[in-house]
Amino acid sequence: MAMRFCILGSGSSGNSAFLQTDDSRILIDAGFSARRLGEMLTAIGESIDRIDAIFLTHEHGDHTAALSGLKRFPQLKVFATAATSEVLSRSLGRPLAWQVFEPGTRFQFRDLTIDAFSVPHDAADPVGFVFSWGHDDLLSPRRRLGWLTDLGHLPQLVRERVRGVDLLVLEANYDAKLLEDDTKRPWSVKQRIAGRHGHLSNQDAHAFLASCHAEQPTLREVFLAHLSRDCNSLEAVAREFAPLTSGETGVRFRVTPVAPGTGSAMVEWA
Ligand SMILES: [Zn+2]
Ligand SMILES: [Zn+2]
Repeated sequence: MAMRFCILGSGSSGNSAFLQTDDSRILIDAGFSARRLGEMLTAIGESIDRIDAIFLTHEHGDHTAALSGLKRFPQLKVFATAATSEVLSRSLGRPLAWQVFEPGTRFQFRDLTIDAFSVPHDAADPVGFVFSWGHDDLLSPRRRLGWLTDLGHLPQLVRERVRGVDLLVLEANYDAKLLEDDTKRPWSVKQRIAGRHGHLSNQDAHAFLASCHAEQPTLREVFLAHLSRDCNSLEAVAREFAPLTSGETGVRFRVTPVAPGTGSAMVEWA
């Protein structure tokens, strides 16, 4: 069973990723204008007409900006929790064919099995996801992709949810020192970012990956994502994660560029 995955763009100016399996083409979040999202899909040989569904983590604009411009694509199913869909319906001011799911449950979409679970973030009902596909046999082994961005810390339950994934997208939002030294943000905003319902720092993400590595024999790919433009840099990420990336862990690390709307390379699995 084949899979293609790439992050179209990730950061405070917008987040969206593309996942294709044998029978599904989906986006995880859609935080760019519909026009920009269309251009990003064209750049990887896809188009919005061919996308079956969008899975939303939460209502913040950097994850949902495309919704208002997507009404020309009725085939698109938009999956979100009830609270997220209600907040967005109010701001969109028009009905949308929501596919509502409950956090903590498992559901099916085409050949994808989706586990959605609550994460700590300052939104109505934010979630992380594990998407899985394939069968538990040699010809088509089951594969799992975990998605963890926009969360202030990593509760034990969340850690357990992503155990056993093959590919993990993990937030590395800010470098603790760069955030502390930042002069653009007032203290209250810094508190929000670094708070229990804000974002994960490089240090948080590194500590998590270092602690779980022994328990994650299946992990092959890590995408570090949602980097802050002002309070993070590729250098800061490289420095923080050097103990993991330079070792013989067998895990490939990719960092989604800080430049707005710059995506990652495409990962393709047979
Ligand atoms: Zn958010
Ligand atoms: Zn965000």
